[in-house]
Amino acid sequence: MAQVIREFESHRFRQMLGFAYVVARMQTQRQGRGNLTASANIHCFSNKPEAIAPFTAGDSDFLTTCYTFYYGRLSRIPVLLTATNHDRDITGMTYVYPVVSRRAGGVSVGVNLNPNNACNWACVYCQVPNLVRGTAPPIDLAQLESELRQMLDAIVHGDFMQTHVDADMRRLNDIALSGNGEPTSAREFDLVIDLIGKLLAEFGLLGKIKLVLITNGSLISRKQVQAGLRAMAALNGEVWFKLDSATAAGMRATNQTRIVPDKAFEKLGICAALCPTWLQTCVFALDGVAPSDAEQAAYLQWVQRICEAQIPVRGVLLYGLARPSMQPQAPRLSALPAAWLEDFAQRIRAAGLPVQVSV
Ligand code: SF4
Repeated sequence: MAQVIREFESHRFRQMLGFAYVVARMQTQRQGRGNLTASANIHCFSNKPEAIAPFTAGDSDFLTTCYTFYYGRLSRIPVLLTATNHDRDITGMTYVYPVVSRRAGGVSVGVNLNPNNACNWACVYCQVPNLVRGTAPPIDLAQLESELRQMLDAIVHGDFMQTHVDADMRRLNDIALSGNGEPTSAREFDLVIDLIGKLLAEFGLLGKIKLVLITNGSLISRKQVQAGLRAMAALNGEVWFKLDSATAAGMRATNQTRIVPDKAFEKLGICAALCPTWLQTCVFALDGVAPSDAEQAAYLQWVQRICEAQIPVRGVLLYGLARPSMQPQAPRLSALPAAWLEDFAQRIRAAGLPVQVSV
């Protein structure tokens, strides 16, 4: 089974345990889809050796204890976040995780409403491991509030940035509803937005950072989703609405959904009328073949149709395959050359919408 080195592979950390300081270099690895394993070189400095002895009996015991302890105190998370480290389990929280975004040039606080890894779509490039078909489970709003408050407190009032983020990225950019599944499938979606608004106000962040929803847009017709979008608009919010293909066959192949382009177009119109909206499009080669001319033409016609209908879409966020798919189709996917993306971006611009490219 292939060995995958997880992205937070090694680092140093220090922690007070009783009267002892511990310095460790740790490496974690995941065997295929199996369990996370860890190993560490540990050096202990203590004026009371007996205080640390129970923890050094075995590496794994030590790490379990240490992690439990760290996870209980967010400001002591030992991981240095990087732009490639998007592990959503990094804080040990259920709903909240921090990531460094190179594109945004700062830290994004992610809110994952799908800790069950469930989505109503099954995009072939999806990075969610063990993805299942389904919807978000009932959200424990009290827990979400507690986790988000703890995270914002560590960032705004604590030493989170200094301890865990490189100097050039120490800027809180946004809160992003971007989970291991479709966030709008949470029945409490509107209540979640209200809760985020309350915490933004509490930490003096209203209007200072963005609130981003990353969605496949399929559930926009739901009342609680529309109520949430209205509330988001008042909170400096924006929606990234997924459109990888503008043909029914392409949507079936890429997103494994039966939604048809006309229906998606209707939902896009509703969404953009409620909250500032960007299209988010991922392009890649399947079995070494780039999207066909017909696929590209259909997409460009969609863009023209958006402009003609004066749907207030802000533009297109055009992505390549930045990180590996965790789906069974992964071996069939490959990244397209940057020049391919740039050429397609130029044609989208010519069709009427601004484009931001992320390779
Ligand atoms: S919509 Fe998002 S979460 Fe759902 S399968 Fe596609 S990429 Fe994954």
